[in-house]
Amino acid sequence: MFDVEAIRRQFPILHQQINGKPLIYFDNAATSQKPRQVLEALMHYYTTMNANVHRGIHTLAEKATEAFEATREAVAKMINAPSKEQVVFTRGTTESINLVAATYGRAFLRQGEEIIISAMEHHSNIVPWQMICQEKGAVLKVIPINQAGELLLEEYEKMLSPRTRLVAVMHVSNALGTVNPIAEIVRLAHQQGAVVLVDGAQAAPHYAIDVQALDVDFYVFSAHKMYGPTGIGILYGKRHLLEAMPPYMGGGEMIKEVTFQQTTYNDIPYKFEAGTPNISDAVAMKAAVEFVQQTGFQTIAAHESQLLAYATQTIADIDGIRIIGTAKEKASVLSFVIDGVHPMDVGMLLDAKGIAVRTGHHCAMPLMNYFGIAGTVRASFAVYNTKEEIDVFAKELRKVAHALR
Ligand code: PLP
Repeated sequence: MFDVEAIRRQFPILHQQINGKPLIYFDNAATSQKPRQVLEALMHYYTTMNANVHRGIHTLAEKATEAFEATREAVAKMINAPSKEQVVFTRGTTESINLVAATYGRAFLRQGEEIIISAMEHHSNIVPWQMICQEKGAVLKVIPINQAGELLLEEYEKMLSPRTRLVAVMHVSNALGTVNPIAEIVRLAHQQGAVVLVDGAQAAPHYAIDVQALDVDFYVFSAHKMYGPTGIGILYGKRHLLEAMPPYMGGGEMIKEVTFQQTTYNDIPYKFEAGTPNISDAVAMKAAVEFVQQTGFQTIAAHESQLLAYATQTIADIDGIRIIGTAKEKASVLSFVIDGVHPMDVGMLLDAKGIAVRTGHHCAMPLMNYFGIAGTVRASFAVYNTKEEIDVFAKELRKVAHALR
C-alpha cells in the first residue's frame, strides 16, 4: 500500500506554513523538493570526504572519486545505459543540449542540412539548435501540434528526409504534460539516418527510462526535477557518437597529454567534463536515484496519474476555465487559463494561501503563441502531493476565479 504520509515525512521542507497556511507545493515541474536522504548525502559528503576527484592519491580524494563515480554507475543502471562511460555529468538539461548542439552540431552539421524540433519545445531545446543552424547555414524545422497539444506525427514523417541530420524532441512537455511517442519518433528518424536527442527533463522524475529500448541517440535530464540537487544533470549518448564528437570545453580533466604544440583528449566521459565538476551534487544525486527506485517508478506514476485525473476533474467546472494541454497521454502537469484573468494574478492570490504554482510562458513562448495566450497557470504534481491538497487548491482557485472575473 502506498503511504503518501510516509513519503511526506521524508521531505522536511513540506512541513511549514507559507503566509500563515500549510505549504502546498505544486511547482514540481520547475523543481521538485528534496528528501532527507539527499540532504544527508550532501552533508555526509562535505563532512567526511570532500576532496577533488580523479588523480588524487590520498584517501579523501579516493573516497570522493568513488562516490562521484558511483553516481555515474547508478544513473547508468537507472536508464539502462550499456556502460557508465556513456553517462556524462553536466550542469543540467540545458547544458547537456548545448553540449550536443555545440559539439555534434559543429562537427557534423553541414550547410543546407536540417534539424527537426517540435512546436512544444522548451527554449532550451530550441535556442541551442537555432544558434548552431545559424552558424552552419542549416535549417530548423518544427513539427506542428494539434489543439490538444499532441505532435502531428504524419507531418513529422513528411518532414523527414536524407537532409535531416538530427531530431530533438521532449519526452514530456513541461507546459502541457503531453507524453510524446519517443520510440516511434526515433524509429522514423533512424530510417532516414538522423540521430535523435530526447529532452527527458520532465520524464525522468516520473518514468523508468530505458535508453536502449527507446533506441535514443542522446537522452538528457536534470537531477533537480527528480528529487536531487540543483546544478547537476546528465547527458547519455551512444558510444560511437560520444567518441566521434569533439570536446565541449577545454581545461583540466578532459586531456590525456598537453604540449604547447598540441593536446590529446581524454576518453569519454571525461573528454566532456573539463574542470572540477560539481562533485557534491553529483554524489547526492545517487541518493535521489535511490529515492525514486525505492519508491518505485510504477508507484510514482500511478499516484501522480490519480492526482492529475482528480485535479482535472475537480477544477473543470470553474467558470471560464480552459485547460491547455488535453493530450490522451499526459503526465503530472495541469496547465490552464481563466478567461479574462491574468495568470500572474491567479498565482499571486494562490500564494497568499500558501499554494505554489507557476504562471507565465513556462519557457515555451512559441507554444504559447500557438495557443494565442501569453501564459498559463500550471500546477504540477510530485509523489508527495495529496488529494487533500488538490481539494484546498480547487477551493481557493474557485474563490480566486470568482473574485477576479
Ligand atoms: N526541458 C524541459 C522540458 C524543462 O522542463 C526544463 C526545465 O524547466 C528544461 C529543459 C531545462 O532544465 P534545466 O533548467 O534544469 O537545465
